[in-house]
Amino acid sequence: MKILVTGGAGFIGSHLVNRLLQIGHKVLTLDDLSNGKLEYLDRALTHNNHTFVHDTAADRDTVRKLVENCDAVFHLAAVLGVKNTVENPLKLMEVNIDGTRNVLEAAHKVRAKVVLASTSEIYGKNEKLPFKEDSDRVLGAPSIHRWCYSTAKAIDEHFAFAYAEKGLPVTVVRYFNAYGPGQTSSQYGGVVPRFIRAALNNEPIEVYGDGTQSRCFTYIQDTVSGTVAALGPRANGLAFNIGSDHPITIRDLAATIRQLTGSSSPIVYVPYDAAYGPGYEDMRARIPDLTRSKSVLGYKPTISLEEGLRRSIEWY
Ligand code: NAD
Repeated sequence: MKILVTGGAGFIGSHLVNRLLQIGHKVLTLDDLSNGKLEYLDRALTHNNHTFVHDTAADRDTVRKLVENCDAVFHLAAVLGVKNTVENPLKLMEVNIDGTRNVLEAAHKVRAKVVLASTSEIYGKNEKLPFKEDSDRVLGAPSIHRWCYSTAKAIDEHFAFAYAEKGLPVTVVRYFNAYGPGQTSSQYGGVVPRFIRAALNNEPIEVYGDGTQSRCFTYIQDTVSGTVAALGPRANGLAFNIGSDHPITIRDLAATIRQLTGSSSPIVYVPYDAAYGPGYEDMRARIPDLTRSKSVLGYKPTISLEEGLRRSIEWY
């Protein structure tokens, strides 16, 4: 197949591009390099079946021209990270919503398959009653600095399913905390690379909040396997959780990385207010139900957290 990967010079995208080339596809990578880097593409850069296009997914004509010649699109281009969510909500929503619309519209014209990258964040927080207008718990305007990323992704999903009703073969993959080699701490503050870097330098490992919040960290190769499986026709019109279903608290993650690196770093706790500004609240836990992904995609995470962390530490 001829496949377009938007955001293909980013962390997940670059691993995906390399996997698609390995299994024999022709790949076009579109990235504006706002966060990605050409060097992440590594072997793909010299591969005969790969072409890199330095441009933006927010431009309708660019996307239309690229999609016209493709059988499928993996749409990963997005502005992300808590820092961007807090500091650039407008830019984030423009890129994340317009880019997705451009891809879906162009794919619909030529009936190309779309796999859309979404996030566990769209599940939001557990609601507390009664509802307060100024609450951080709504996917709405008063909480723009917390929820604009997840809101934009939720809108993207609604667009995708509206196009599915018009006959577009489209699948949504909701990622749960991907990590692994190639994820740098400078990108947008992913917690795993941030902790590894601190541990390797024997600097304090800063845990935001009290560290009892938990996440399901997913090794990049498992993330990519689930993403590629979403190309199949049985996945059309559906959303899939792509992640590990083994939660770990951030406190325990810090301790594990400290131990695996043999580091003498102290683990220190930083209040959310100090890390992200006043009023920030985190999601306590995110755990995927993998029933659908396992049965329809044959998805199964294979790399344990300890093994994945070892490989990541080696890479740094
Ligand atoms: P990343 O920042 O490494 O990759 C995103 C890429 O998109 C970058 O290379 C960036 O340069 C590019 N990009 C940004 N704006 C663009 C634009 N206007 N036009 C073209 N390219 C643009 O992040 P990632 O972790 O690889 O995330 C990939 C996708 O997966 C994103 O859609 C993200 O929302 C989603 N996601 C990731 C995670 C995770 O754990 N990493 C979790 C949930 C969802």
